[in-house]
Amino acid sequence: MALIVQKFGGTSMGSIERIRQVAKRVIKEKLAGNDVAVVVSAMSGETNRLLDLAVKMGGRQDDMETDLIISSGEQISSGLLSLALKNEGFDAVPLLGHQVRIATDESYGKARISSIDSDNIYKILKTGNIAVIAGFQGIDSNGFITTLGRGGSDTTAVAVAAAVKADRCDIYTDVDGVYTADPNIVPDARRLDVVYFDEMIEMSSLGAKVLQIRSVEFAMKYGVNLFVKSTFTEGKGTQIKFLGDDKDMEELQVSSVACDKDEAKISIRGIPDKPGIAAKIFSRISDANIVVDMIIQNISVEGHTDLTFTVSKKDLKKALEITDGLAEELEAKEVISDDKIAKISVIGVGMRNHYGTASTMFDVLAKENINIMMISTSEIKISCVIDAKYAELAARILHDAFNLGK
Ligand code: ADP
Ligand code: ASP
Ligand code: MG
Repeated sequence: MALIVQKFGGTSMGSIERIRQVAKRVIKEKLAGNDVAVVVSAMSGETNRLLDLAVKMGGRQDDMETDLIISSGEQISSGLLSLALKNEGFDAVPLLGHQVRIATDESYGKARISSIDSDNIYKILKTGNIAVIAGFQGIDSNGFITTLGRGGSDTTAVAVAAAVKADRCDIYTDVDGVYTADPNIVPDARRLDVVYFDEMIEMSSLGAKVLQIRSVEFAMKYGVNLFVKSTFTEGKGTQIKFLGDDKDMEELQVSSVACDKDEAKISIRGIPDKPGIAAKIFSRISDANIVVDMIIQNISVEGHTDLTFTVSKKDLKKALEITDGLAEELEAKEVISDDKIAKISVIGVGMRNHYGTASTMFDVLAKENINIMMISTSEIKISCVIDAKYAELAARILHDAFNLGK
């Protein structure tokens, strides 16, 4: 007998009929003799609908009221799935984040889990019940509801799996595994049997929302046995695992292409170039809890320089308020922004052992006349910022160029 954590995403929980289908998957695992804890997302579209209501009332992403409102979709899902399981004759207990005691910090809208009371879950499982846990939500030290950032039910599932020392954590979604690129953008994309944690971290942070990045970090830290599978079809899915001594690794230069359209670019132009400028700009931005991704500074011309950086689109307005104020203070010429950009990336642990990945990428983009605005690299990824209108085309041609297709 094993202890399995299953997680079902928004599309999987999208209707009464689909929730009945989900119940069947849960029951199958239970009938195989396993203890099962299930983590559920809100029905598809529900979190957006709730967020929209909060925003219309003047709520911001980091307000505690917004978290209280947007966490409610998962409450409904856990109740519905628990009912579906009971209708099939199985004992189930619906649980909210605070009942499991998923403790978090107080960063509303992007809270981090600090601990989970595993005894509570064990007690439920020991009596033969299926625990049906609302994903995405936790509770801070003052007893207020928090949420874990968009896509956060993945993190709930992995954190629960780590807390109860589950034998496996299966993330069920609307695709049958992790692909060489988003299959909804690149029709030729191929399912991967295995993805290494290092690659998955890059993929998630570079726009492959199939797993929330924090869930991957958590799984890596606690050694959770993690799979991505389809709710709707049978199959072995994709295993996310540690890099061992697999022979294939050196042969594959690039293993996936990712695309992120959630960033915007800000340039401060004509800044008098002197020590401390970057420190001043980026400390103000980080004091406002805004994460900066890519940064480039041009060489100085006649004592003046330009600085360009990217932030998440949702932080653009706040970042511009800060940079507009700073431009005046620093006597910079102007601030311009662009939210019609995309970051296209190629990823692969095999890149460490190959030369020429970057030049191939730049060549391929140049041949289609796609201009590169910014570049960033690490040992296992290369990212380029391009015009958003070329995002899908770039994903497809890079996927082809690195022979990732079927
Ligand atoms: P859920 O609601 O189940 O959490 P998400 O919408 O968050 O599902 O994530 C699944 C989606 O991730 C897929 O429908 C797919 O469009 C997208 N995706 C992006 N990149 C990839 C990739 N490399 N492999 C698989 N899916 C990907
Ligand atoms: N329902 C939340 C969201 O839409 C969490 C999740 O689906 O993982 O972001
Ligand atoms: Mg998701």
